Amino acid sequence: MKLLFLFVALFMAHLAVFVTADLDLVLLHTNDMHSRFDETDIYCNECRKNDAVNGRCYGGFARVAQVVKDEKKKAEEKNLTSLFIVAGDTFQGTPYFTFFKWQAVVDFIKQLQPDVMNLGNHEFDDGIDSLVSYLNGIQDIPTVVSNLNMTLEPDLDKFITRSFVFEKNNTKVGIVGYLTTDTPVNNGSFTIFIKLIYLGKPPSIEKPYGTYPLYVTTVKNKTVPILQIYANTKYIGKVDIHFNSNGDLVSINGSPILLNNEIKQDPSMLTVIDKWKPSVTKITNVTVGRTTVELLNNCHLMECNIGNLIADSFVYYNVLKKKNYDEYWTDAPIGIVLSGSIRNTINENDHEGYITLGQLINVSPFANKLVKVTISGASLLEAFEHSVFDYLLHNGGINFLQVSGVLVEFDLSQKPGHRVSSLYLRCGDCSVPKFDPVILTANYTLVTSDYLANGGNNFNAFKKIVKKNEILSVVDYNATAMYMESISPITIGIENRIIIKTSN
Ligand SMILES: [Zn+2]
Repeated sequence: MKLLFLFVALFMAHLAVFVTADLDLVLLHTNDMHSRFDETDIYCNECRKNDAVNGRCYGGFARVAQVVKDEKKKAEEKNLTSLFIVAGDTFQGTPYFTFFKWQAVVDFIKQLQPDVMNLGNHEFDDGIDSLVSYLNGIQDIPTVVSNLNMTLEPDLDKFITRSFVFEKNNTKVGIVGYLTTDTPVNNGSFTIFIKLIYLGKPPSIEKPYGTYPLYVTTVKNKTVPILQIYANTKYIGKVDIHFNSNGDLVSINGSPILLNNEIKQDPSMLTVIDKWKPSVTKITNVTVGRTTVELLNNCHLMECNIGNLIADSFVYYNVLKKKNYDEYWTDAPIGIVLSGSIRNTINENDHEGYITLGQLINVSPFANKLVKVTISGASLLEAFEHSVFDYLLHNGGINFLQVSGVLVEFDLSQKPGHRVSSLYLRCGDCSVPKFDPVILTANYTLVTSDYLANGGNNFNAFKKIVKKNEILSVVDYNATAMYMESISPITIGIENRIIIKTSN
């Protein structure tokens, strides 16, 4: 029996297929849809009225649904078996989820009706109860997770199956799904080699990470194709797969389909969008600022201006709440933002640079509370070491930190754990803010998200507090919205807050 890994959903989830006999399978797949129920602009941010009118919008569940219907019909006409699978991370990403959580997702997934799905790490973002309610609402869709220990979560266990088998023309097709915290592609026990070259020009602005499929060789010397299609419903994956009577994979051909304006939107899915959209736009359709520069999310890789803006907004919010003006300018001169929490770019040309709250929530969808944390210089140094610990392995990564009131230099030619070559911090107890070298034994107060303050992404350094944390009564995107309003038009750029050296 041959194992075919179908796809890895942004490091966090994957499904695998087994078959027992000769089979031609049309496989449709998507992953990391991140609550892009409605169509989006080219950056997977809000599709606003004049984008839609001018045909400049992409994706959305209605386009996904339409392609699935069309391709399944074509397969049926050719008497081929088709399978539509959704890998995890349908939760989180837009105001639909930020404000309406699982209730909205249930409606959309029910209408989409994948043959089988699994869970991504973000399905756990709103807690187990929320996930259980979601799965309870979509019971007729098999949800496969094979590696979760649910002994302590019997309510969740009820709705999850370890494997799923369906039978077509006397052939059994088995599916297992994995939820992992790390991608097996990057853990060193797999060797990646590329067999197919991505043909032609990429259809939109995304650059492919590798070929489609991407072939990896496992430790047991098996070659398995991995399929993944970007995220946010901008594409859907389609492959024709042939298995021989041993169940061996003989051929796999296909390509991702860009869901642009040429793809029709399924009318029944549009009615679900019409049901939810008014309540979402009522909240999000307010202007929070205007930008003259592109607020670019390349924050996994380097200092990014949208990260600078968000980190500055954290510091600003705390200063704004300052009561006593006989004290120094702030008790928390440092702001720290996890790159993984920054999810989108805001373009300066569209809509004359005016930014809506909805767009900003697509950038910061997690609605994390801001927290003031006091830790030692040594802990702060440890946090920055952690931020680049796996940098070379992951080509940057979600742990990279964006900063305000920090000047940090990394030397990536050094071993993990020894890469911070210089660290300067802004003073708060000073009349004129300036930067001084870190003192390992001194205490520093910073503003960050409750997620990081609680040691999220293994940032244990933020838990080594020397003073009780103070929770600020604001969520991240609201602090950023206030700051944007106060500094618009926004002109923020790269300010050498973070320098990365790759060799001496
Ligand atoms: Zn994801």
